[in-house]
Amino acid sequence: MNHNETLFLRAQKSIPGGVNSPVRAFKAVGGTPAFIHKAQGAYLWDADGQRYVDYIGSWGPMILGHGHPEVLAAVSQAMQQGLSFGAPTEREIELAEEIIKLVPSMDMVRLVNSGTEASMSAIRLARGFTGRNKIIKFEGCYHGHADSLLVKAGSGLATFGHATSAGVPQEVVQDTVVLEFNNVAQLQEAFAQFGTEVACVIMEPIAGNMNFVRASVPFMQAARELSQRAGALLIIDEVMTGFRVALGGAQSLYAQQIPGFAPDLTVLGKVIGGGMPLAAFGGPKHIMEQLAPLGPVYQAGTLSGNPVATACGLTTLRLIQEPGFHAALGQRTQSLMRGLHQAATQAGLPFSVDSEGGLFGFFLLPELPSNYSQVMQTKGALFNQLFHGLLQRGVYLAPALYEAGFVSAAHTQEDIEHTIAAATEVFAEMVA
Ligand code: PLP
Repeated sequence: MNHNETLFLRAQKSIPGGVNSPVRAFKAVGGTPAFIHKAQGAYLWDADGQRYVDYIGSWGPMILGHGHPEVLAAVSQAMQQGLSFGAPTEREIELAEEIIKLVPSMDMVRLVNSGTEASMSAIRLARGFTGRNKIIKFEGCYHGHADSLLVKAGSGLATFGHATSAGVPQEVVQDTVVLEFNNVAQLQEAFAQFGTEVACVIMEPIAGNMNFVRASVPFMQAARELSQRAGALLIIDEVMTGFRVALGGAQSLYAQQIPGFAPDLTVLGKVIGGGMPLAAFGGPKHIMEQLAPLGPVYQAGTLSGNPVATACGLTTLRLIQEPGFHAALGQRTQSLMRGLHQAATQAGLPFSVDSEGGLFGFFLLPELPSNYSQVMQTKGALFNQLFHGLLQRGVYLAPALYEAGFVSAAHTQEDIEHTIAAATEVFAEMVA
């Protein structure tokens, strides 16, 4: 038995499933998860000393790669001054100002500890601001594990969603409407039926929780216009896309195609913490001022705006503003996608790819899917073979076919070429 296997057996005795977040358990792909011992740059090392090129990047935060010296120095300096104060600090203002500068749809921002907290709080704010209860979300989009968001589509528009987790009462999800992603007609129908009761529409602009599915421009435009007309808020969840697909997030890309486009509220996480627990939500002043202590919508946190986390996030945000950062990241990601696509096609496998900045998706499908049910047409066994083949060759992808991939500034062309060479071998095995 190797060290990973020993640790997994041991972990399962004290931690449910051996992991502190379910997808880490490799349940979807089978096998034993690698227990990570250390990370540097684009690489992870497991308990057996195996090195991997890391395409998870802690599920998004590590846009600079692991152990960036300037980030570590900022964290270490902040640590010397104190781990947590539970009182306001200047660095929180600096981080808030930096975020607002980069995302013009936000006048004000509240810092929290996780993306879950940020979207849960944004929804509470939307409900408090509008005085309405219903929320619209889309199948395949994940906004964290708050009760009202753990919902799958019901059988029709008139029936509301069903909880996807035990422990979530039906009463809690009865106001959550789940619609198909990229389905404009369904969204129009929903607003026609109960638009005046809708507090908000929440969506991932590029859904990274069904691998990589872009909201089409007409769909985004419809979400914006329909919610505005009905007096509902549009919440764009940029926990995954924020500062990763572009410096201004995915919303900056839609704003190039939809004149005047801006969401009402934005949810951020991952990159803004640079690897430490930090997330945020924000929007225009008149909405944000509904939050306590100014307004009636309660929201709080013992560790919110933590001084070490804000030092990590602030340094990360400053470093990614270097000229050409996202262009270079995008080119590297595209060269990975091009190489994988070419290798898979040459092997005779159905394969489609997409990417934006440092976020990518590939599908063992001939055409890019546009919604969750299309993503799920992927043959799971084929994906698992690819996943394990790459893992054995030192390439670490997300262990589920419905997860996006992440490239960092630390990935070199050599890493990309190594990955494509490894994939070429695995594709040959898959068709054999
Ligand atoms: N929103 C999106 C788009 C996410 O991808 C995630 C996590 O993956 C979340 C929200 C939840 O964030 P967290 O895991 O920090 O609670």
